[in-house]
Amino acid sequence: MADALSFLSAPSPEPLRFQTVGGLLDATVARWPDRPALIVRHQGIRWSYAEFAAQVDELARGLMAQGLERGERIGIWSPNNAEWVLTQFATARAGLVLVNINPAYRLAELEHALRKVGCRALLLAGATKHSDYPGMVRTLVPELAAGAGGRIDSAAFPELKLLVQLGAEPTPGFLPFAQLVAGGARIEPAALAALQALLDPDDPINIQFTSGTTGAPKGATLTHFNIVNNGFFVGAGMRLTPQDRLCIPVPLYHCFGMVLGVLAAVAHGAAMVFPGESFDPLQVLETVAAERCTALHGVPTMFIAELEHPRFREFDLSALRTGIMAGAPCPIAVLRRVVDEMHMREVTICYGMTETSPVSFQSHVDDPLEKRVSTVGRVHPHVQVKVIDAAGRVVARGVAGEICTRGYSVMRGYWNDAARTAEVVDAAGWMHTGDLGVIDADGFCNIVGRVKDLIIRGGENVYPREIEEFLYRHPDVQDVAVVGVPDAKYGEEICAFIRLRDGARADDESVRAFCRGQIAHYKVPRYVHFVEAFPMTVTGKVQKYLLRELAEQQLGLRREATA
Ligand code: AMP
Repeated sequence: MADALSFLSAPSPEPLRFQTVGGLLDATVARWPDRPALIVRHQGIRWSYAEFAAQVDELARGLMAQGLERGERIGIWSPNNAEWVLTQFATARAGLVLVNINPAYRLAELEHALRKVGCRALLLAGATKHSDYPGMVRTLVPELAAGAGGRIDSAAFPELKLLVQLGAEPTPGFLPFAQLVAGGARIEPAALAALQALLDPDDPINIQFTSGTTGAPKGATLTHFNIVNNGFFVGAGMRLTPQDRLCIPVPLYHCFGMVLGVLAAVAHGAAMVFPGESFDPLQVLETVAAERCTALHGVPTMFIAELEHPRFREFDLSALRTGIMAGAPCPIAVLRRVVDEMHMREVTICYGMTETSPVSFQSHVDDPLEKRVSTVGRVHPHVQVKVIDAAGRVVARGVAGEICTRGYSVMRGYWNDAARTAEVVDAAGWMHTGDLGVIDADGFCNIVGRVKDLIIRGGENVYPREIEEFLYRHPDVQDVAVVGVPDAKYGEEICAFIRLRDGARADDESVRAFCRGQIAHYKVPRYVHFVEAFPMTVTGKVQKYLLRELAEQQLGLRREATA
């Protein structure tokens, strides 16, 4: 019976849009020029859509005035700020490929990113308390001379020609962002309009280095068509309108910020509200209350930090209605608190990955709460999904396997890396996600872990997610991550890393006692470690491979070498 297979495809009365990022902005400005577009609290910025679009155009002409040409790569290495959002649209308008560089990267990673995609220009933030961006770039490019207006000729990076510094205090040698913008006066608006007409929605427009919880970062290359449509449908999934004010504390260099935040808001005329340069729970609470935000995004650990903040009760969050929790498994208990205590009764869960622009599943605002808290919802409009077993066959509904995604949202490929692209996108166009999921009879999907994180203990498949969800019910447990560690007898054993609530005293034996009789004996963690914090990626994913290494060190275990 065909419908018993784990294959989903979602038709939609709303067609895909054959539009560029610039075209999307034009359409919004034409409809809602006076609605608020961008509010950046830490920079004191409040722009309407008409004001925002005017700034975008000036910057786009500024980029053209530097001789940057269609298809060239422009890196941005900065925490969240107004310049980042302007650059996102201005590069797209000028046909340039924006390269998102994680602001937490250090020299070796920056070097890898610049070389991998051959950046022609780099826009970087001024020094912050965590990172001296100009200082680091100077180490890489010692040729940088004061008075050269950011122009460089570097032996180490022959393709890199221009260095621009954001912010009000430029460092000698770099072209100040304000001058980049001012230079746009040399280019006629008609020249920009003519360039617009040449652009094709299928052009690559953005490269994002996948956070990769393992391995060297790969440059996932996305087109206008990929991200414009994903942003549109994600915003539609939240029922965003021009009356909404979306608080975006997630990073812009990641799809969560620039697609689920920025493009979703722009597609529906909603306001983008940035509480700060990087995540700070108190700033988020203050911003939501002061700006009467109606929507709030976050990875699960951000929502946990907001809910647990000692001053949480002081803030009036009653304007909140919706938002997205995504990026990592969303604990059911946290989601319930987000609905009850943060008033986000229409919160939606998204599941996806950078390589699929990113979202492929989203819960509907009116799905039953039970489904919304326990699954990642249903397949996204115009996207196809199948779940396969190790032999590549589609499994029946209710059976776990690897999720594969196909459709408009699948990336163009990893930049200049056909071999690694072919490892994940097969000849039929399916992106193999490396995630394990189960699709139920109604088409709701539950993510049960990464293929690589699956634990096989004594021949039993154990999904870490299931044990984690169970342990979240323990009153002393604040956060938990379960991994497999090598074991001579069973192949692997279960190891739980737990962060306790303040003042809680559970020990390993009491945690095991809590599990016994409640979950199958082979799922009861043999080892329990208590930690103060988890090793995380900036996008809120626990780096399980580091936890496995830690457990192996602490327990003196060694993994048998495998091919
Ligand atoms: P990234 O490419 O950085 O966006 O990371 C994508 C990965 O994040 C996916 O392959 C999943 O492993 C994980 N992920 C994203 N959303 C969810 C979710 N709602 N539940 C579980 N895992 C998720």
